[in-house]
Amino acid sequence: MTLLEVNNLGKHYNGDTKVLKNVNFEIGSGEFVSIIGPSGAGKSTLLRCINRMVEISEGRVFVDGQSVGDMKKKSLRTLRTNIGMIFQHYNLVPRLTVIENVLHGRFGYKTNLQGIFGRFTEKEKEKAFELLDRLGIADHAYKRCDQLSGGQQQRVGICRALIQDPKIILCDEPIASLDPNSSKIIMDYLKRITNELGITCLVNLHQVEVAKEYADRIIGLKSGEIVFDGPSNMLYQDKIESIYGFQQRELITV
Ligand code: ADP
Repeated sequence: MTLLEVNNLGKHYNGDTKVLKNVNFEIGSGEFVSIIGPSGAGKSTLLRCINRMVEISEGRVFVDGQSVGDMKKKSLRTLRTNIGMIFQHYNLVPRLTVIENVLHGRFGYKTNLQGIFGRFTEKEKEKAFELLDRLGIADHAYKRCDQLSGGQQQRVGICRALIQDPKIILCDEPIASLDPNSSKIIMDYLKRITNELGITCLVNLHQVEVAKEYADRIIGLKSGEIVFDGPSNMLYQDKIESIYGFQQRELITV
């Protein structure tokens, strides 16, 4: 079943040159897809068009059959509860505890007043602990987030995304700030989430080898255009070179 459909998507910032050009693809429920491409290719912009963190300039994006660009405030809020997002720099509130940060993922379901007073149900709190346990960081629940390592903070970010009950998780360079060990732990968790919970995962990655190891399918972006879309094992060296040019040697070694 198609969960995400991107039709002739184009994006420019402030009328400048287009950073996305005529982008087309569909992603099915439960797929694990990686978007690769050099810095500036438009990977982050593409993810941000999907949940409308940036406005779409041309074309349409459908999530679960609904056109994201046409949504008014209320439906956009509902849409965003269905889309979890994981960031390179985690985007946690450093002075708040781990459990508080995870519960922030429920804000989309709250009225403004409930949100202001941080009212969460027992069931939500139980779920938050369950997720922390699943990600192996339940022992840190009451620590401030800024006392955790990068890898642990990213696990909090994953819990915050999962507590939303999302249909899709967008990950923007989730391991770019992590060492190889922590990167492996995070990628393993993302893969498990897709397999065990059936959540679709769309992951921007800088490292081709990691994309090839984890993703079922890879979309290659170059200067805002799709230049490869296929199974990971079909992304051969010549294609990698055409996506990255001379940069690829340093990029494929993780
Ligand atoms: P990637 O994630 O592949 O590195 P980005 O989507 O971050 O690529 O950036 C694509 C292009 O869009 C770059 O040239 C970048 O400078 C530009 N860009 C990204 N965000 C903005 C913004 N908010 N305003 C203006 N230009 C932007």
